[in-house]
Amino acid sequence: MKPDLHFIWPWGENKLEPKYVCPVCSQVGLVFNPEDNDLRSSSQMCVCCGFRDNPNFGKDRLEREKNWREAWLKCGAVKLYEKPDKEKREQYRRIVYEDYANYRYVLTDEQIEKHEFDDVLFTQYGFVNNSDSSRKVTVRCEDGRNWQFEYKTNTLFYLDDVDKFFAVGEEPERDRYYLFASEYLTKKSSGDRQYRGGFIGFVPDLFGGFYSLDDECVLTGLDDKKYYFNLEKE
Ligand SMILES: [Zn+2]
Repeated sequence: MKPDLHFIWPWGENKLEPKYVCPVCSQVGLVFNPEDNDLRSSSQMCVCCGFRDNPNFGKDRLEREKNWREAWLKCGAVKLYEKPDKEKREQYRRIVYEDYANYRYVLTDEQIEKHEFDDVLFTQYGFVNNSDSSRKVTVRCEDGRNWQFEYKTNTLFYLDDVDKFFAVGEEPERDRYYLFASEYLTKKSSGDRQYRGGFIGFVPDLFGGFYSLDDECVLTGLDDKKYYFNLEKE
């Protein structure tokens, strides 16, 4: 028995029997009484709709619950616990994306397919729209090929074909530069400069990964060749 049960991941090994009605889906899906208002009751996840409570929601809780309910309904009001594991995770992912769209600009599958997006995709995360024709973004492949682009953020640059693309993100407040690279270019990165996590509807949907571009960034493509990305700074 674990003495300190911070939250319940109902699809994990330590499955406990839900007894309480979830305020989001109105089904019996909660292990702890939500009225208790202690850490575990306010950190648990509903086995039916997948809503995960969070003590940090505070006064936003009602809105969060409402948005999750809408997302859950929109995705078919599927009782997650009735589904086999793989289907459950897939369905859960759908709800997360649907819910996320309440707060963020998320790309549709069609937009991802066509590489179309609004600038908001970047700016909502604090990446500014910037361009400077006197500065260059350069890419060099170990096979000798070279590319040079005028500095521009939030824009796709292509290396010869549609699978090999990248974008530059600039975060002026922290004086940081980011490289967003397509799946093709993100087989491997050198060193430890890959950022963990992702942005829903953005990475890994459009881009395979994102990296620091404060210094040279070296990525390996699916062709097993190394690509060296560099930025001329101000
Ligand atoms: Zn629920």
